[in-house]
Amino acid sequence: MDFKLTKEQELIQRAAREFAEKNIMPVADQIEREGKIPDEILKGMAELELFGIAYPEEYGGTGAGYLSYVLACEQIARANGSVSGLYSVHYLGTSSIATFGSPEQKAKYLPKAGSGEWISSFAFTEPATGSDPKQISTIAVKDGDDYVINGVKRFISAAYLPGPIVIFAKDSETGHPTAFLVDKFCPGYSVSETWKKIGIHGSKVVDVYLKDVRVPSSAVLGPKGQGYPVLLAGISYGKVGMCAGSLGGMQAALEESIKYAKEKAHRDSTIAKFPTIQVAIAKIAEKVEACRWLTYRLAWLADNTKDIMAFAKQAAMTKAFVAECGVDVARLAVGVHGSYGLMDDYKVSHIYRDAIISEQTEGVADMQRLITGGALLR
Ligand SMILES: Cc1cc2nc3c(=O)[nH]c(=O)nc-3n(C[C@H](O)[C@H](O)[C@H](O)COP(=O)(O)OP(=O)(O)OC[C@H]3O[C@@H](n4cnc5c(N)ncnc54)[C@H](O)[C@@H]3O)c2cc1C
Repeated sequence: MDFKLTKEQELIQRAAREFAEKNIMPVADQIEREGKIPDEILKGMAELELFGIAYPEEYGGTGAGYLSYVLACEQIARANGSVSGLYSVHYLGTSSIATFGSPEQKAKYLPKAGSGEWISSFAFTEPATGSDPKQISTIAVKDGDDYVINGVKRFISAAYLPGPIVIFAKDSETGHPTAFLVDKFCPGYSVSETWKKIGIHGSKVVDVYLKDVRVPSSAVLGPKGQGYPVLLAGISYGKVGMCAGSLGGMQAALEESIKYAKEKAHRDSTIAKFPTIQVAIAKIAEKVEACRWLTYRLAWLADNTKDIMAFAKQAAMTKAFVAECGVDVARLAVGVHGSYGLMDDYKVSHIYRDAIISEQTEGVADMQRLITGGALLR
């Protein structure tokens, strides 16, 4: 077992860290206040070729793999949760195309998604459910050689940015969920106002309205009536990015807590002398370390495992654990800061608000445990 990163992975990690420190950290507060990621940041990430990092070179990627993606995403999340959030949902959609796309679909979407010109979205959740494929009500009715899609998708990330969107709808022929690849802003596609949420304000969610959206049969992604495997695989790859995002937030919480403990005066020294503070910081460090290696391992599995079901189980376990640790770490970090940790001016307050989002999205934590428990008890 080799825990050492390759030279290429070290380079990617360093480049992402330097970019994030120089270009994202200084505007992190602004991003959260204004609810917008400056275009220059996305442009800079594109120049670093981060949007296609995990995909084969033949489709415009760099072929560096998921571990490289995780290393970059972690560094970006250390600077700001909104940017890593957007980066991660882009991979949720793009991974589905890379895994299930026909050669034509890959050729059409991956080069522009890989260059960052397009940001991909993935739309499963609906007003009635975010967890149960049987309950989705978006429908795709076969009409000649086309499908006509109608429905509403809820809380969809990046749906307001140009690019492909993977839409899950029940198709009229099989009655089962099928995945469709749709161009955002095609006729019949529109989005709601931005939802006002607790954190990652720069990575916005909107509802998507699909009114008689007409797509050719060639827009079906994966086998017809087999949307569930596409959903499971897409969301499992998506969890790799979610874990990297949580990890970056945790690392930032650790650094902020150490800095604060060493600076905050108490009588003739600082609060760093207190055993309670030392224990809190040690607990944060333990969780960061455990989550880092679990996340890197999940990325390694994404690069090396062909068995999607086995990967999905590992992704579910890792995501549930890492997301929960993210919340624990954020709470401990706020504790180290006392009431200052609750103030908007302090980064740990943002980390706290962002952390809880990872617990509830791309599979609620307890639902992940149902996947794991079910697989173990089969
Ligand atoms: C910032 C953000 C970004 C998002 N981005 C996207 C996106 O890009 N694409 C997308 O499709 N969605 C997205 N979502 C939606 C998100 O993934 C869903 O909201 C989430 O999966 C949970 O679905 P739900 O809210 O409908 O909860 P529900 O499925 O209604 O679950 C509610 C509660 O009931 C429990 N529960 C549900 N079913 C069962 C069951 N069978 N057994 C036991 N317990 C159960 C759950 O564990 C949970 O505690 C996003 C949400 C946010 C906040």
